[in-house]
Amino acid sequence: MSDRSYLSIAPISRRAFLALSAGAVASLPGVSLYGGEMSKGTTTLILGGGFGGIATAWHLRGALSTEHRVVVVSRERSFQIGATKTWVMLGQAEQDKVTRSLDALSAHGIRLLHTEIERVDLSNMQAITSDSRLNADYMVIALGAELDMSLVPGLSGAAETFYTRSGAVRLRGILKEFKGGKIIIIIPQLPFQCPPGPYEAAMLINAFLEGRNIRNRSSLDIYTVEKAPMATAGPAIGEYIVGLLKERGIGFHPLSQIQVVDGSGRTVLLADGTKVPYDLLLAIPPHTAPRAIRKSGLVRESGWIPADPKTLELTDTPHPGKIFVIGDAASVPLPERFAPDIPLVLPKAGIFAERQGRAVASRIAGAIQGNGTSDSFDGKGFCYIEIGDEKALRGEGSFYEMPHPVMNPRTPDHIQYAEKKAWVESWMATYL
Ligand SMILES: Cc1cc2nc3c(=O)[nH]c(=O)nc-3n(C[C@H](O)[C@H](O)[C@H](O)COP(=O)(O)OP(=O)(O)OC[C@H]3O[C@@H](n4cnc5c(N)ncnc54)[C@H](O)[C@@H]3O)c2cc1C
Repeated sequence: MSDRSYLSIAPISRRAFLALSAGAVASLPGVSLYGGEMSKGTTTLILGGGFGGIATAWHLRGALSTEHRVVVVSRERSFQIGATKTWVMLGQAEQDKVTRSLDALSAHGIRLLHTEIERVDLSNMQAITSDSRLNADYMVIALGAELDMSLVPGLSGAAETFYTRSGAVRLRGILKEFKGGKIIIIIPQLPFQCPPGPYEAAMLINAFLEGRNIRNRSSLDIYTVEKAPMATAGPAIGEYIVGLLKERGIGFHPLSQIQVVDGSGRTVLLADGTKVPYDLLLAIPPHTAPRAIRKSGLVRESGWIPADPKTLELTDTPHPGKIFVIGDAASVPLPERFAPDIPLVLPKAGIFAERQGRAVASRIAGAIQGNGTSDSFDGKGFCYIEIGDEKALRGEGSFYEMPHPVMNPRTPDHIQYAEKKAWVESWMATYL
C-alpha cells in the first residue's frame, strides 16, 4: 500500500481537522487521521456531498470492509433534493423538513470532511483545499454544476430563481404577496439541471395562481433558448409538454436568445430585437462546471469533464480505473441522436448522478477486492413531472437506446404524485 492511500492532512491543517465531523471520526473504530493505522486499507475520496456523492459513498461503504476509508469532501453541511425546491417555493413544504444534515453519513461509517476544494491534482491523486492536500487511491468527482446569473447581462439582481435553496425560499414570499401581473420564466443557456424543471414549475405556478384566484389577472410565459422541451428525450415528449402548457394557457416561446435584462425597466431584450415586459422574472441561471474543476484544467470543449458513458472514468485519465466523474459535472455523450447536426449528451439529473455513483462504487469495490465485479451505468433513469392539483406523471428514460433515446411518459394522476413524494422521502431516509 502506498503512502498515497492515507487521508493525509499536513500538520498545519488543524483547522481542517477540526472541521471534520467529530461524529464521523469517532464512529470509525481503529481509524486515526494521524496515526499509523492509516497504512491499512485504501482511501476513496468523493468530492462533493450532493446527489451523486452521497449515493456513491453509501454504496461503496456497504461494499467494503472498514479498513478501507470512504471520505466525502463537501462544502455544504446539508442536502436537499432538487425536486423539493418547487414545494418550498409554493409553500407546500418547509425548508427544514426537506433538508438533512450530512452528519448522518457518519452513521454509515463514512467520513465527512467539511471544507472547500480549491483544486484537483489528478496526476498526484490529490484534492487540494486551502490548507491541506488530501491523498486518494480512488477519486470520484461529484462536484455538480455552478449556477451563475452574471453570465447574462442584467440578470443578477433582476431575476428570481427556484433553482437554488435560498432562491426558492425568497420566491415563496414573493409569490405569496403577488397581486397578479405578467410572469415570465427564462431559460437563457443550455445545459441546465432537470430539463423538465422549468416546465413543471410553470404548471405548478399556474395552479398556485388559480388557487389564489389571480390567474385571470396574470399571464405566464416561458422564453427558452431550446427548440423544444426535453429535446434529448425526443420530439414526442417535447410535443407532449408543449400540449400540457397550452391546455393551461402558458405561452411557450422556443429559440429565444436572451440578450440583456433591464431590471429597472422590467424588460427582457431578445436577440431578434423583441422586448418582453414583465412584472415578475424567474430565470434558470446559466450553469457552468464548478470553479475548482475549471481551475484544475479538467474541463474540455463541452465545458464539462468528459466521461466514459458506461464506466464513468475520465476519458483522458492519468490513472486508468482510479478516477471517475459523475453527475452534473460530467459530460456523457449519447450514442445516437435525433438531429444529425446536434450532438446529444446525457441530461443533468440527480437520478443519473445516483445511478452512476452506484455503478462507480461497484467498480471501485471490485478493484479493491480484486474480485472482478463491476457494474456499468446503463443510461436509464426516471423522473416525475408535476402538473399541478397534486397530479404527476412518471417518465421512464433509456438514453443509450438505439436508434435514439426513449422516454415514455404515463398519463398524469394522483397516484404518481404520491409516488414522487414517497420517492423523495425514501431517498432521504435511505441515504441520510
Ligand atoms: C428545481 C430542481 C428540480 C430538480 N428535480 C429533479 C428531479 O425531479 N429528479 C432528478 O433526478 N433531478 C432533479 N434535479 C437535478 C438534480 O438536483 C441535479 O442533477 C443533481 O443534484 C446532480 O447531482 P450531483 O451530485 O452531480 O451534484 P450536486 O447534487 O449539486 O452536488 C454537488 C456538491 O458539490 C459541492 N461542491 C461544488 N464545488 C465544491 C468545492 N469546490 N468544494 C466542496 N464542495 C463543492 C456542491 O456544493 C454540492 O453540494 C432538480 C434540480 C433542480 C434545481
